[in-house]
Amino acid sequence: MQNELMLRLIEGAAATIESHAEQLTRLDQAIGDGDHGINMARGFKEVAAQKGEIAALPLSKGLQRLGMTLVMKVGGASGPLYGTLFMEMGKAAPATALPTLLDLSAMLDAGVAGVKARGKAEPGMKTMLDVLCPVADSFRDLVNNEEIDGLDSRIIAIAGHSLHATTMMEAKRGRASFLGPRSVGHIDPGACSSALLVGSMIGVLVPQT
Ligand SMILES: [Mg+2]
Repeated sequence: MQNELMLRLIEGAAATIESHAEQLTRLDQAIGDGDHGINMARGFKEVAAQKGEIAALPLSKGLQRLGMTLVMKVGGASGPLYGTLFMEMGKAAPATALPTLLDLSAMLDAGVAGVKARGKAEPGMKTMLDVLCPVADSFRDLVNNEEIDGLDSRIIAIAGHSLHATTMMEAKRGRASFLGPRSVGHIDPGACSSALLVGSMIGVLVPQT
C-alpha cells in the first residue's frame, strides 16, 4: 500500500510537471532565466525513472531519496530548494506505512521550515513559499479543527489563490529580484511549480489517510 502510494505520488507529480513545463518556462522567461520548466521536467523525469526503487523504500527514506534526486537533477536554485522540501518531509515522516493527516501536516511544516532556512526567505518575497506557507498553514488549521470534508479541494483552492497573489508582489529573492518593481505583474514560476505539485500530491495523499 505504501509502495502504491509513492508510485502514484511520483507518477502524478511527474506527469503534472511534464505537461506544464512550457508554462513554467514562459513564466520564468518573463522574470527569470527561462529554464524553470526544463529543469523541473528533467528532475521529475529522473524521479519517475527511479520510481520502482523509491517506492520500495519506507516513506521516510523514499521521500529523502526523491529529494536528493531533485537536488542532483533540477539544478539552479530550485533543485536544492525542492530537494530540501522533500528531504525534510521525509525526515519528519512517521515509521508507519501510511501517514495520518496530522503526520502529513507535520511533514509539510518541516518541509516548509527547511525551504525557509535554505532560501533565507519568508512569505511575501514572491517565491515558492508564497504557495507552500499558506498551504501548510491552512492544512494544519483544517486538520486541527477536524474540517476534513473536501480537505483536498480546499487546499488546492488555497494553492491557486496564493499562486495568483504572487502576481502583484515584488520579488525579494531569486533572479526575479534583480528586476525590482518590474517583477510586479507576473506570476512567480516557483510558486507555480509548487501549486502544481501541491495539486497533484494532495489529491493522492488526502483520500488515502
Ligand atoms: Mg531559472
